[in-house]
Amino acid sequence: MTLIFATHNPNKVKEIQGLVPNHIQIKSLSDMNYHEEIIEDGDTIEANARIKAEAVSKLFNLPCFADDTGLEVKVLDGKPGVKSARYAGEQKSDEANKLKLLKELENKEDRSAQFKTVIVFKDGAQDREFTGICKGEITQVPAGNAGFGYDPIFKPSGYSKTFAEMPASEKNKISHRGLAFQKLIEFLKA
Ligand code: IMP
Repeated sequence: MTLIFATHNPNKVKEIQGLVPNHIQIKSLSDMNYHEEIIEDGDTIEANARIKAEAVSKLFNLPCFADDTGLEVKVLDGKPGVKSARYAGEQKSDEANKLKLLKELENKEDRSAQFKTVIVFKDGAQDREFTGICKGEITQVPAGNAGFGYDPIFKPSGYSKTFAEMPASEKNKISHRGLAFQKLIEFLKA
């Protein structure tokens, strides 16, 4: 069975290929010779995952799934949320995004935040949604070099280090994306 993952990122595909049953072959958009970006213009993380899954389903008429992730900060009413990648502008700079967030939280006591990943799976008439949430807080200063995005300033609840101070294997066990993918994998196995 071929399952298309609505991404161009070969690392994401490799990671999930190692976790699904052998008879399922995960293919990226690039593997399908599709090299364009799907426009993500939804107002929510859920909407963007749905937009991508629907676009890929229409393009190839094969089972597929899409994921979308955002960081939601409580005192900012859930921002940057769906705009996480472009928080500080269209250049999509991780560095600028982190600095902007730290600036906005200056002098704020409540620094609680959560990462949310939504995966939408589509197979003909069937639509399934899987959500993974990782709660934590935004640190005062960045720490660690691993990972990407907001990892150096996000400390998951119950831990004394940021995501960027953890090896990928440790982060994946507790992360929003890891949890959402575990749910998708359980569904695919069943
Ligand atoms: P995407 O939907 O996976 O492309 O994620 C959107 C944006 O959210 C990324 O560009 C990052 O800024 C941020 N992000 C997503 N996942 C993570 C993570 O695991 N750690 C840190 N930042 C993340």
